[in-house]
Amino acid sequence: MFIRYVQTEKVEVISQVAASLVHEVRNPLTAVKGFLTLIRESRLDQEKVNRYIDICISEMERTEYILSEYLAISKPLTDLQEATDLAHQLRITVEVMRPYANMNNVALELEAPPEAVPILANPEKIKQILVNLIKNAIEACYAVSDGKVTLDLRTEGAKAILTIEDNGIGMTEDQVERLGSVFFSTKSRGTGLGLSFSYQAIQGMGGTITLKSVHRAGTRFTITLPLYEPEPFGNGSGVPADGLS
Ligand code: ADP
Ligand code: MG
Repeated sequence: MFIRYVQTEKVEVISQVAASLVHEVRNPLTAVKGFLTLIRESRLDQEKVNRYIDICISEMERTEYILSEYLAISKPLTDLQEATDLAHQLRITVEVMRPYANMNNVALELEAPPEAVPILANPEKIKQILVNLIKNAIEACYAVSDGKVTLDLRTEGAKAILTIEDNGIGMTEDQVERLGSVFFSTKSRGTGLGLSFSYQAIQGMGGTITLKSVHRAGTRFTITLPLYEPEPFGNGSGVPADGLS
């Protein structure tokens, strides 16, 4: 039953984000059209033509990347679990959500270590959790003119720690109490499913999620997940050491 709700939420979230992607695709299209017109109508030297073509190609590659990642996130979830780089999944999701932030005039900032942050997880599920939390943070900024969402990923001991902070509307104590229960939503188009899915998924991975919220000032979610350290070869495999010579 819950899985059906989760798919409903996915469709709803994805369709809301889709509108912002239409904007995002229009910009590079306009740029590419402009450059192609210039190349056709002006007597440009070859060096300039090459430079304009390079810009067009990189604009198109960026758009293609965002669209394909967006489509990957829209697919139904599978049960796969594998060694996953949380930093990489976070970077992808931030790029997919950037058009939504832009459309809502919210700055989206990411601090993440350059090296991999390995966890044992389903990468699609991780992205779905991140989409839910980033989307909520962006939407919380609807009433502030300098809306800002900051994501910070770091490691501490055997844990990955991710904070998602916004300077939006915040929550009352009463709202915080009800957070994570299915169908709790304060939005006219809300489903109240994003957080309950995310809470369940994070707990299922052996992680924790906590929050601090100040009404009319902002909210900070903190997620911790165990870092994945593969067992050294031949260790913990269940094969007794004796008798193997
Ligand atoms: P939905 O976004 O569809 O309402 P969610 O489960 O994602 O459902 O969120 C439930 C509710 O939690 C939201 O309606 C909102 O009231 C509150 N909420 C979640 N994240 C934030 C946030 N960053 N700032 C303020 N309120 C939030
Ligand atoms: Mg939501």
